Amino acid sequence: MYDFINGNEYAPAPESTAIVNIKKKYGLYIGGKWVDAQGKKTFETINPANQQVLSKVADASKADVDAAVKAARKAFEGEWSSISGAERGKYLYRIARILQERSREFAVLESMDGGKPIRESRDIDIPLVAAHFFYYAGWADKLDFAFPGAGIGGQKVKPVGVVGQVIPWNFPLMMAAWKIAPALASGNTVVLKPAETTSLTALLLAEVIEEAGVPAGVVNIVTGAGDTGKFVVGHPDVNKVAFTGSTCVGKHILKSVAGTDKSYTLELGGKAAHIIMDDAAIDQAVEGIVNGIFFNQGHVCCAGSRLLVQEGVADKVVKKLQKRMETLIVGNPLDKNTDIGAINSKEQLAKIKSLVKTATKEGATVWQPGTSVPRKGNFYPPTLILDCAQSHTVVQEEIFGPVLTIQTFRTVNEAVEKANNTQYGLSGGVWSDKGAKVFKLTDNVKAGIMWANTYNAFDPASPFGGFKESGIGREGGLHGLYPYVKFNA
Ligand code: NAP
Ligand code: MG
Repeated sequence: MYDFINGNEYAPAPESTAIVNIKKKYGLYIGGKWVDAQGKKTFETINPANQQVLSKVADASKADVDAAVKAARKAFEGEWSSISGAERGKYLYRIARILQERSREFAVLESMDGGKPIRESRDIDIPLVAAHFFYYAGWADKLDFAFPGAGIGGQKVKPVGVVGQVIPWNFPLMMAAWKIAPALASGNTVVLKPAETTSLTALLLAEVIEEAGVPAGVVNIVTGAGDTGKFVVGHPDVNKVAFTGSTCVGKHILKSVAGTDKSYTLELGGKAAHIIMDDAAIDQAVEGIVNGIFFNQGHVCCAGSRLLVQEGVADKVVKKLQKRMETLIVGNPLDKNTDIGAINSKEQLAKIKSLVKTATKEGATVWQPGTSVPRKGNFYPPTLILDCAQSHTVVQEEIFGPVLTIQTFRTVNEAVEKANNTQYGLSGGVWSDKGAKVFKLTDNVKAGIMWANTYNAFDPASPFGGFKESGIGREGGLHGLYPYVKFNA
C-alpha cells in the first residue's frame, strides 16, 4: 500500500484522502486475472500537481494485447454473448451501484492522477460515470425494441464481437464508462487502453467490474503508451475500434483500419465557438463562459475555447469576465475551493505555453489575472487572448488548456461564418434572450452539440460527437448503441 500523504507538498483534506489505497504497482487485467506485462516492463504514473510518483503501471506489449484479445474472444464466444440482455443489465446495474458506493475513492484518485479539481471529479465526473452505467443497463434487455425495423422479418440485433477501445487523459473514468457501458449492454467484450498519464481509475474500475462478478475476459484493461494503443487498434481479431483522442492520432487510426472489416467510431478534437448575443443575460453568460473554458483546466474536447461576442456588449462582457477571473483559485486539485487544478502533463503545459507565445508573436494581446499560481507542479493561469484575427494560430488550433480567444461580430450571419471557419465541428454555445436567434445559430453552426444559455451540460441519454475533423459516430444515448450492434446476422 502506498502512503501518498507522506512527502506530499500539500496537506490534503484528511477525510477525502484516507479512503484511497494506491498500490505500489498495477498489473494488466486480462481474462479476469491481474498479470504483469510479459516483458515485466512498467512505467510511472505521477501526480501532476506535485510531480510525485503515485504508482508503477504495467506497460503492455503486442503479446499482452494479443492475450487480452484472446481472453475477450473466449468470453465472447462463451458465456457472455449467450446470456440474456436482462442478465447483462444486472451486471451493469451492479457496476453502477458499486461506483456510487466507492465514488469518493474514485473522485480522489481521478484528481490525484489527472490533476482535475476534486469538486469536479466528485460532483460531475463520477456521478456521470455511474449514471452512464445505469443508463445503458436499462437498454440491455430492450435491444430488440431499440432500433427501427429490428425484429421485423426475423431481423435480429447482435453484438459486433470483440471491441478495442482507446481513450484520452482528460476524462479518464468518464471516457472508460462511455466506451465500456454501451459495449457490454449490447453483448460485446472489450479490450480497453487508458491514456498513459491517467491509468489508475480505469484499473480501479477493473476492480469494480471484478467485484460485480462480471465473467472473466468480458472486460480487459491493458495499460501502456501510444504503441499499446496501436496494437489494440491493429489487432486482426478486433471487430470494432472505438477511439477518443486527438484528430492527429484519429487520422492514423482511420488509415490503419482502412481495408479491414473493422467498424469504428472516432471522437476527436474541437475548437468550439461560444457566441454571446447583445440581448443575452450578461451575468449568466459570463458564468457560462467561465465554465465553458476553465472547467477541467480547459482539457475538454467540447470546451468553449473561442468566444464570439457581439460588438455592442463586447467591452462589458470582457470587463465582467476579467473581474470574475480575478476570483478563480488555481492550485491543489484536492482542495475543495480550487477552480483550476493541474495541467495533466509537462508536455501539455509546454504546448499551452508555446501556443500562447505564438499568439503574442502573431499580434494578439495576452491577458492574465493577478491570481497566484503554485510554482511547483504543472499549473497555468486562466488566460484571455484579445485582439484575435480568424487566421491566428490560437483561433484555429486546439490549445486544450485554460486559454480563451476573444473575437467580436456584428450580425448573426457573421457569427455563424466565424464559428464555422474551423476544421472542427464538435460543439458550440449561444447566449441570447430570443428563441429565433438561438435557433438560427444552433441550426447553422456545424457542430454535433450546441448548447443554448448553458454550457458543458452532459446527460447519458444525449448523443455526443462531431462533424468534420471532430470525428465519426456518436456516443451516448440510443445513438451510442448503434456502433456496438449489427443486424440480420
Ligand atoms: P491522443 O494523444 O490522441 O491520445 C489518445 C489515446 O490514444 C491515448 O490513450 C494514447 O496513448 C493513444 N494513442 C497514441 N498514439 C496512438 C496510436 N498511434 N494508435 C492508437 N492509440 C494511440 O489524445 P490525448 O492527448 O490523450 O487527448 C486529448 C485529445 O482528445 C484532444 O484532442 C481532445 O479534443 C480529444 N478528446 C475528444 C473527445 C470527444 O469526445 N470528441 C473527448 C475527450 C478528448 P498515450 O496516452 O499513451 O499517448
Ligand atoms: Mg498521472
